[in-house]
Amino acid sequence: MPFFSQVATFEQLWPTIENALEDVFRSGKFSHGQQVGQLETALTHYTGARHVIGVNSGTDALVLLLRACGLRPGDGVLVPAYSFFATASAVVLAGGHPEFVDIDPRTHAMDPAALDAAVTPRSRFVMPVHLFHTMADMAAIGAVARRHGLTVVEDSAEAIGMRRHGVHAGLHGAGGVLSFFPSKTLGALGDAGAVLTDDPQVADTVAALRHHGRTGRTLNDFPAISTESALPGVNSKMDDIQAAVLLAKLTVLEEQIARRAELAAAYTARLRDVPGIVRLPRTTAERPDDRDVHYVYLIETEHRDALVAHLDGQGIGTEVYYPLPLPHQPAFAHLGHRPGAFPHAEAAARRAVALPFHPDLDPGDLDRVCDTIGSFLATTRTTA
Ligand SMILES: *Cc1c(COP(=O)(O)O)cnc(C)c1O
Repeated sequence: MPFFSQVATFEQLWPTIENALEDVFRSGKFSHGQQVGQLETALTHYTGARHVIGVNSGTDALVLLLRACGLRPGDGVLVPAYSFFATASAVVLAGGHPEFVDIDPRTHAMDPAALDAAVTPRSRFVMPVHLFHTMADMAAIGAVARRHGLTVVEDSAEAIGMRRHGVHAGLHGAGGVLSFFPSKTLGALGDAGAVLTDDPQVADTVAALRHHGRTGRTLNDFPAISTESALPGVNSKMDDIQAAVLLAKLTVLEEQIARRAELAAAYTARLRDVPGIVRLPRTTAERPDDRDVHYVYLIETEHRDALVAHLDGQGIGTEVYYPLPLPHQPAFAHLGHRPGAFPHAEAAARRAVALPFHPDLDPGDLDRVCDTIGSFLATTRTTA
């Protein structure tokens, strides 16, 4: 049983995708063409963002967003200590300095109180991340940001469809991103991403930066690149083949999100009373205008590594998100963060494991995963 599969989705959507791909092939324009424009428009409607700019990956989207929001070399960017590596590497690629903040164990997102304590004189940005199924507390983070004069940008790469107070993820500050990596809730056939923003100036700058800094139609419009202004563009255009696939999958996204919610509720109902599991995802939103989206289904147990090995032996795929807190990655060893400095991030990195989860997951398979976990934890706990 694979951890993730979208074979059934592709079978269901194949006639639509085949037509869209044929349009791309006949158009002769394979990059930054018509399908990309159509996808950007469709995503403004889906998210409510005034501007959506398609780029090559979620990581590029973060780098270009930070630069378009005026990040200067050496600026401090507060990020959670627990996330995918790209959250912190994007800060470095944009020229910034990552400043790590511990998480709230209930949401796995940046803890607003820890954020307040982590602000330094060089901090200029705060970049909360919305992980797995729910958003960071954007109201509390926004209040801390205002008090310290920080610009808020969101790593909403995992958060398509998530809302707080009726506002889609990525639109609670200066801007956010989407990733369309194949395993994401809206996944392409390879890499693709987008920037979301309501700010026309940020949108224009990202649109120029993704295409060598170009603002007009001719080569003469390339801006001068000086070491002072230092906003050289990159090549981060989106492929039309990816846009065509994403447009087709967008038509069933809401249906798939509803199916994900049902499967998450079924997992939680089966696992709620299993001793040895210390945390399960929340499956009902706190307020009516909030919406969670189950991108992955993640549990926490102190027996994580043994459980992963046991499930693997039974042919059940899992993923460990994320095995090492960001400040303890070798890439950030030079910052000198000690073990114990981010206790909630460290506990999640030690205990969290994501179970097989995608809209086409067979309910019988879900039962088998839960039975296998239940009997394994029962014996592990009595022999431990
Ligand atoms: C997937 C992801 C990214 C990066 O997106 P890519 O499209 O893979 O570059 C960034 N941040 C988080 C939290 C992610 O999950």
